[in-house]
Amino acid sequence: MQKQQSLRPSSVSIPLHNPTTKYYDLNVAVGERVLVGQKIAVRYNQEVRLPVFSSVSGIVRSVDSLEYVNGISMDHLVIDNDAKEEQVKARPLLKPYTAQMLRTQLVDMGVEGLDQNGLYTSLDFTNNINQVIVNAVYENAGFVKEDVQFFETHQDALIKGCYLLAEASLKPVTVLTNQRSFATKCQQAGLQVRLVRPRANKAWQVEAIASIIKQQPPYDLLSVGVIYTNAHTAKAVYDAIELGVPVTSTEVVVLLDDAKQQRIVETKIGTTLADVLAGANASAQQDATYFSGNVLSGSSMKSGEFVVHADASTVGYTSSVIEEDVCIKCGLCNDVCPVGILPQNIMDSEIREAEDRIYSYSVDQCVECGLCSYVCPSEINVLEWVRRAKRRVARGVE
Ligand code: SF4
Ligand code: SF4
Repeated sequence: MQKQQSLRPSSVSIPLHNPTTKYYDLNVAVGERVLVGQKIAVRYNQEVRLPVFSSVSGIVRSVDSLEYVNGISMDHLVIDNDAKEEQVKARPLLKPYTAQMLRTQLVDMGVEGLDQNGLYTSLDFTNNINQVIVNAVYENAGFVKEDVQFFETHQDALIKGCYLLAEASLKPVTVLTNQRSFATKCQQAGLQVRLVRPRANKAWQVEAIASIIKQQPPYDLLSVGVIYTNAHTAKAVYDAIELGVPVTSTEVVVLLDDAKQQRIVETKIGTTLADVLAGANASAQQDATYFSGNVLSGSSMKSGEFVVHADASTVGYTSSVIEEDVCIKCGLCNDVCPVGILPQNIMDSEIREAEDRIYSYSVDQCVECGLCSYVCPSEINVLEWVRRAKRRVARGVE
């Protein structure tokens, strides 16, 4: 897989809130100059307040409403990039540090709520945590050519990040990996390791977690004292603590033309997919479908104008039109669902807009593994219907 230099978009549009932290306070005004790593806003809900950082140096142009990866419009701060890359002063945490100092620094650097898609939890140490599990397997392993570059390039930072998570939680950290050499290095650093065999869907993660915690994982892993996060977050932990810098860019895998071409692109948060594609010397066909997230279970998007955010691991487009057939009610999707929430029934209720029925299913327990879509003989994107039902329920309880 090709690795290419970081992009320098002429502007970025940084999401000011997301589905879990729906409110925000701006710290900067239109016309103001900002630096890379400067706190530009605070996003919050009833429980947490998390900073939002600029990924470029430049001038704040406006606040625009743009489509977020969940298909809902969200406010974004648009900043014109002056390409000078001027940064705020780094604030590494000085040793010796306590668990509380580590936790505070992670919140200050915005790492606490970095990736909460699917099964992943926030780095919330306030519950009684028994176990931290770090998924160090590339998101698209088993489907796209495995990306070991991230692990080869950053393995020392990653291992230190896992170690810092152990210090912050005062609990053991178990690393899930499919790389024997990485497993050995983790063990030498005193981390517990599970060698796993990833598959294209996320069901293997449910099985791996179940074998570690010795029970069927509930949807909310924090409720049983488990923090479950990924390798990118572990690296962000290292950056926040030892380098004193927040996450302002992310390495995304760009899949072009039905994944025939794959590139890793260091992307500033807030870069549009259209700019990512232009930087990769690619452009989509007029009728292409865009997506963000895991190949199998990512969200499909209406246009390439959505932006890369801190959670994104994979973006791209596909030109082939998948002809969905009718549901033959074979029940395969219901049988395969790891959390047993009957995706066919949910889809059927969503199509009929039968709200009472939708509310009777535990749609919020969907871990977005994509298995229901994967097994469907009619090639229906069942997960997309489950997502719609989740959004309907979320709107209903606001
Ligand atoms: S509904 Fe589909 S995506 Fe959600 S957990 Fe079940 S099988 Fe996975
Ligand atoms: S797997 Fe596909 S065809 Fe079978 S019940 Fe589910 S949605 Fe219908």
